[in-house]
Amino acid sequence: MIQQLVQSQNAFFATQQTKDIQFRKAYLKRLQQEILAQEDAICDAIYADFKKPRFESLATETQLVLAELKHAIQNVEEWGRPTPVVPSWTNFPSSEWIQPEPYGKALIMAPWNYPFMLTIAPLIGALAAGNTAVLKPSELSPHTSAIIASIIQKVFPPEYVAVVEGGVEVSTQLLAEKWEYIFFTGSTQVGKIVYKAAAEHLTPVTLELGGKNPCIVDGSANVSLAAKRIAWGKFINAGQTCIAPDYILVHNTQKEALVEALKAQITAFYGQNIKQSADFARITTAKHYQGLKAMLQGQQILFGGTCDDDELYVEPTLVDEPDWGSPVMQGEIFGPILPIISYETEDELHQNLSRYEKPLAFYLFSKRKKFQKQLMAQYPFGGGTINDTVVHISNKNLPFGGVGSSGIGGYHGKHSFDLFSHSKSVVRRGTWLDVSLRYAPYRIPIRWVKKFKHLF
Ligand code: NAD
Repeated sequence: MIQQLVQSQNAFFATQQTKDIQFRKAYLKRLQQEILAQEDAICDAIYADFKKPRFESLATETQLVLAELKHAIQNVEEWGRPTPVVPSWTNFPSSEWIQPEPYGKALIMAPWNYPFMLTIAPLIGALAAGNTAVLKPSELSPHTSAIIASIIQKVFPPEYVAVVEGGVEVSTQLLAEKWEYIFFTGSTQVGKIVYKAAAEHLTPVTLELGGKNPCIVDGSANVSLAAKRIAWGKFINAGQTCIAPDYILVHNTQKEALVEALKAQITAFYGQNIKQSADFARITTAKHYQGLKAMLQGQQILFGGTCDDDELYVEPTLVDEPDWGSPVMQGEIFGPILPIISYETEDELHQNLSRYEKPLAFYLFSKRKKFQKQLMAQYPFGGGTINDTVVHISNKNLPFGGVGSSGIGGYHGKHSFDLFSHSKSVVRRGTWLDVSLRYAPYRIPIRWVKKFKHLF
């Protein structure tokens, strides 16, 4: 079945229909209409998967996708135009341009944590750029996977866009096929499997992976505002956000005030009985829940720490000064657990920041402009925010992605179009003049040839 689907997408792409910008635009509009019509049902599906609050599903899934769609529909004609470049003197007379070209059939694999947005947002870029696509939503968010499948089936013929549902076995079968582009969002571990499979066919990839995102609160930061913005970015989606602050490094003069402000903020957000709050999600899988529970073993808990096996509920939890070698500081937490570690000197801060691979996100709360600039320039990371968390994802003009072990490539807005397009270079030579200096037998003195660098 997968092989047939792949063949049908090859045949469809070969018809060149997707090269027509109006064709792309018409389908993007149909997708937009269907998502608008099904927005409530999509939120219900995500709620059924892990009790994600409706506000969060709208704000971080459907509305983000609809914004991307609107932007693509408005701009795809312009993005699709060839871009003229300054011609080279050596080619005189000529005109020269970059022609964006779709790769062909794209495979898009998505995780469970923002199950709708992370499947559909890359699709918008793939379609705007003129590709066909096969989507593989996560099997761990089955209700969302099912509604994505039904929307796609309603809007697109399968030879243009199709959904293949299933787990590792299905992913493995898909990865055995030859794709012209693979866009993967998920763990670093599975990212390596995808990269290896892509290498077999020299398929270009985007890998949107995870990491251990630091959040620094220095001695000059406004602590109460920092606490509000950190608690929001950490506990939205119950901490299951790839760009959530993973751990806090706070200057020791601010620690006590920050902890008190965080406690007050969590209570202000979710009330005294957080389990009863309609605004706090659950952990998606039992396996991940057990991993989070294990991370709390033997830790000093400053706030929270309650878990419920039946509901897969982990309370927003503040952990005090964990050992660097403890499980909570080993890998990405990906849940509502927030370790708080104090530092005294900047040397100590830098030492701690250097412990991990390049993170997906980086956060700094500080009023010191020079320090802000220094840290932004000094550390490699996918994207970051000064004096807030997570919000760098909201600007479609900023490419969203990781670096090193947190990923390859960035998307959103026009960056998505560029990502899914090959930039084809074209030179059109005039025929009314043909300077013969380049042809053998070579007659130009060598000292002139050494000046060619000024012409290219
Ligand atoms: P995952 O890597 O387990 O799964 C992602 C996809 O890969 C799923 O569709 C799954 O079916 C498939 N898959 C799983 N195991 C596979 C295997 N052995 N072979 C082939 N395919 C396989 O990720 P997840 O648990 O669903 O998501 C959580 C991870 O994703 C976290 O690490 C998080 O940081 C990361 N993430 C990154 C971003 C980003 O934009 N950079 C966004 C969300 C999540």
